[in-house]
Amino acid sequence: MTRRQRRRRQPRRAPFDAVCAGDRSGSPDGSWQGGWLRGVHHVPSPNQGERPASTPIVLAVLHSISLPPGRCGGPHIERFFCNRLSARAHPFFAGIAGLQVSAHFLLRRDGRLLQFVDVQRRAWHAGRSCWRGLDNRNDDSVGIELEGLEGRPFTAAQYRVAARLLHALARRWPLREVVGHEHIAPGRKGDPGPGWHWKRLAHRLQGSGIAVTPAHASAELLQALARSEAPSAQDPGRSA
Ligand SMILES: [Zn+2]
Repeated sequence: MTRRQRRRRQPRRAPFDAVCAGDRSGSPDGSWQGGWLRGVHHVPSPNQGERPASTPIVLAVLHSISLPPGRCGGPHIERFFCNRLSARAHPFFAGIAGLQVSAHFLLRRDGRLLQFVDVQRRAWHAGRSCWRGLDNRNDDSVGIELEGLEGRPFTAAQYRVAARLLHALARRWPLREVVGHEHIAPGRKGDPGPGWHWKRLAHRLQGSGIAVTPAHASAELLQALARSEAPSAQDPGRSA
């Protein structure tokens, strides 16, 4: 067999599969210093502000991100959330480098967590959003970015650490429900997408008191919950 034939017989792997496999390293210990989780890497972002007064933190919103899309492990997400992304570093960055956004957490493919914003403060992750009759869900939510590509699988480490993080959040704040960005901004956002298995997360959250609504709600119900006349956020179990 010639070298050329050998090369042809090898399966072609997308860059995503090659660099986004994940492993089983790292996890938080679940204790807090104020609104910062101990034992994870802290990268304070300027893209945050005060939450409205008397607004309990009741919702977690899962997102997905990789920069450039499909490439994992680089420094670009941290730079993006800290307004230090160079527009010249990649053609894709030219369209996003001026945006001022953040999330509270980034969960890497290998299970490592980074925190950008104090949970007690408002991160800029959800944008225009509505869930259970309430708009602007940045006000009362925690934003968690899963490193990955919308529609592609996530890693076992990400399910494990996401569940630990949500448990830790629910022990400290009145967190009641977890949904995707795609659910609170349907038509505008599609992350984390069908590669994220909500039932798998729900299994890990049994007994936590956190409703994983996308694990069991129909598409029609999810759409209804994203409208402003939907039931109150204070009773997530009612329509779940
Ligand atoms: Zn998102």
